[in-house]
Amino acid sequence: MATIKQEDFVQSLADGLQFISYFHPKDYVDALAAAWEQEESPAAKDAMAQILVNSRMCAEGHRPICQDTGMVVAFVKVGMETRFDDGLSLQAMIDEGVRRAYTDVDNPLRASVLADPAGARRNTRDNTPAVVYAELVPGATLDVRIAAKGGGSENKARFAVLNPSDSVVDWVLRQLPDMGAGWCPPGILGIGIGGSPEKALLLAKEALFEPIDIQDLRARGPANRIEALRLELMDKVNALGIGAQGLGGLTTVLDVKIRDYPTHAASLPVGLIPNCAATRHIHFTLDGSGPARFVPPPLSAWPEVAWDGPAGARRIDLDRLTRADVATWRAGERLLLSGRLLSMVANLAVQVLIVRHLSRVAKPLRPCRGGWREKASPADRQYQSPSAERSPAMDARSCGNCSPAAHPRNPLIRCRLVVLGHQCRSICATTNSVPSSCATNGFMRGLYIVSVMSRIRTRRPASPPRRKRRSAPTAGPETAASCAPG
Ligand code: SF4
Repeated sequence: MATIKQEDFVQSLADGLQFISYFHPKDYVDALAAAWEQEESPAAKDAMAQILVNSRMCAEGHRPICQDTGMVVAFVKVGMETRFDDGLSLQAMIDEGVRRAYTDVDNPLRASVLADPAGARRNTRDNTPAVVYAELVPGATLDVRIAAKGGGSENKARFAVLNPSDSVVDWVLRQLPDMGAGWCPPGILGIGIGGSPEKALLLAKEALFEPIDIQDLRARGPANRIEALRLELMDKVNALGIGAQGLGGLTTVLDVKIRDYPTHAASLPVGLIPNCAATRHIHFTLDGSGPARFVPPPLSAWPEVAWDGPAGARRIDLDRLTRADVATWRAGERLLLSGRLLSMVANLAVQVLIVRHLSRVAKPLRPCRGGWREKASPADRQYQSPSAERSPAMDARSCGNCSPAAHPRNPLIRCRLVVLGHQCRSICATTNSVPSSCATNGFMRGLYIVSVMSRIRTRRPASPPRRKRRSAPTAGPETAASCAPG
């Protein structure tokens, strides 16, 4: 019987979560580096270069790979010959590990978990609770796999119960274009086939813990139906041309992992969960001899990537920015920002600066009760891609990462900005909004690329009509909501 100290378990969880917040798994770095070398699309190659540079910077500086540091999911196999030295429940121990990791003063991670999801949606402030799956197994060890999954990729999970005669490949290929780029490819697809509805999704999630090895599989050849399915899906998904960050190109997925389970004769449940460019998971085992140790990968694991921003971009040092500088910006120009840009407030401030400056070339808004309404035809509201490379992914829906404060429906922000770069382009391309959350991305802190769209509609009339104050507001037919464009 192995006795495992609860403190060892909690500290191992905290250390593991900190570790994966800034170290990409080496297999992901290797696979992405190989894809980057082969990539032919300049935009996709550029996006992959940014991810690799970001990854290395995060490893060096111990800062999060992505602003969304995820919700923790834990799969724990508890050996039947183990016991804990104290009385906390498994959930309570894991939550304490999450709390410690996410409130670490040296590298605080974003608390993204909300309680009362269908109501008040209050932030629990320490990213607890984790989602915990436990299994009792033979043995005298505690086997733990943890992941910190971001909302963008989790939002693209798909599930269906197919007819037994349906093609899983066809179903997966139908899902990908609709998933868009909001899951921040290139990544990995986890697919669960069989079991019951909830089991299929669990299989898909568990499959994502497996190492990236599809090129080895390709070299040795498939040994069974599932391995053949992996190769077929890998090739067909990449042939869709969605590409890194939805920018087209050769690589949308770096691997396809599949797990299956016996199912009912009448059913074919299939779950699909993508893992994004911020692939974060780790595995450790405790046997009572102390906490887990995590060995950082050497920096030589990262390829030498010389990334110097897009050609023709104007370099802006935010620490020395003056109003005179802003006055020289032109609609449609790409700005490569460096310097201090840390928060949503700072991001918003930059947007407001741009909006104010460009307001004189803008299309007027007409005032109405509760806000401003632009005189725009449906055609005006079509997204205008700054490049000719427009992938099917760009037509997809929002990944949910956009800030409501910066959304074009917000009366304050009436411009169209596209923030280009790691994870941002796709979000903006799909929603025409500015994802302020990207401002806290480890890479984006230092480097920000903003492309100001040429069709900007920001001008306010000289003076909006003043309304007399009423003692109590009354709801009329024309409310703020009715003023929203669209
Ligand atoms: S890379 Fe994209 S999908 Fe992944 S956690 Fe970051 S924002 Fe979310």
